Amino acid sequence: MQEIKIVVTMDCERPTADTDPVASGPPNFQMAEIWTRAYANIAAEYGWPVTFFVHPETAVAQADMFRELESAGHCLGLHIHAWRFDSHFQCEFGGLSEAEARAMLSRAIEMWREAFSVPPRYFRQGTLSANDSLFRVLADLGFRGGSVSLPGRVFPDKHAVWAGAPLDPHRGHPDFRLLEGPLEFANMPISVDTSQLNEKDGRQFYWDLRPDFDGLDYLQMARNIVAQLRERDPAIPCINMLTHNDYDFADPESRVGRNYRDVLAAIKAACDEANIKTVGATLGEIVDEVLSEPYVAPEFDKSGGRVFLNVDDRPR
Ligand SMILES: [Zn+2]
Repeated sequence: MQEIKIVVTMDCERPTADTDPVASGPPNFQMAEIWTRAYANIAAEYGWPVTFFVHPETAVAQADMFRELESAGHCLGLHIHAWRFDSHFQCEFGGLSEAEARAMLSRAIEMWREAFSVPPRYFRQGTLSANDSLFRVLADLGFRGGSVSLPGRVFPDKHAVWAGAPLDPHRGHPDFRLLEGPLEFANMPISVDTSQLNEKDGRQFYWDLRPDFDGLDYLQMARNIVAQLRERDPAIPCINMLTHNDYDFADPESRVGRNYRDVLAAIKAACDEANIKTVGATLGEIVDEVLSEPYVAPEFDKSGGRVFLNVDDRPR
């Protein structure tokens, strides 16, 4: 492995004044703009672009800023939390029926056109909440890619269950979200450190590289992720990290602002140590690469549930 694509992303939420005090999101659009621009500027110190996933109302309100960021080489995608887009729904995106998801996305696409005059091509849903209709719905509605999975996350109450999901960029499957498939839609999973599966309050998750966490050793995590990438040796090696537009990235002394700088430095250091070149990329570029290769269906394994009949063959 000679190089790893680095994809820095941010979910751009509605202000909490318009949703709920406990929701993620900035207090208002003025602060959001300062923090969003600062986030991009810090990534630019490494020459890395940012992929922004923007909630429809935020896209309309901050259209000028996001147009400018896109012109500067950053990438834009649609972001939706079902309950924040339409308070009729008290769930995240995966809790919608297929018909409800199509209707909601169609409304969001219209708002996106209002903001940018073109439809959105990329997508990430809030909380990475999804059911099995997700990939076929997105492909049907003209999306060509997304960052829609967080491998290892098991948050059943949020309809966000990604145990066993692919760890590397891949084409989506029309009927089963946990498998690669033949769709003209590419997914770039969020990068996770698979060395430790955490359990808390009935939920499971791997750590990822978001700067939101307190007390994590980001350098060790980046080293683990790089080592795991080398072990898997995927067709498109990439590190995909995320956060939200509700932290003060303009203040270098803020906790998450400091963590963010540490995360980027850790990614660079872990790659340097392994003699791997870092190349900044947008989701759009990752999607181009995935879709440039045809899908090859794996051979069907007929051994069924008897794979682990011998106790010595048990997974550990
Ligand atoms: Zn969100």
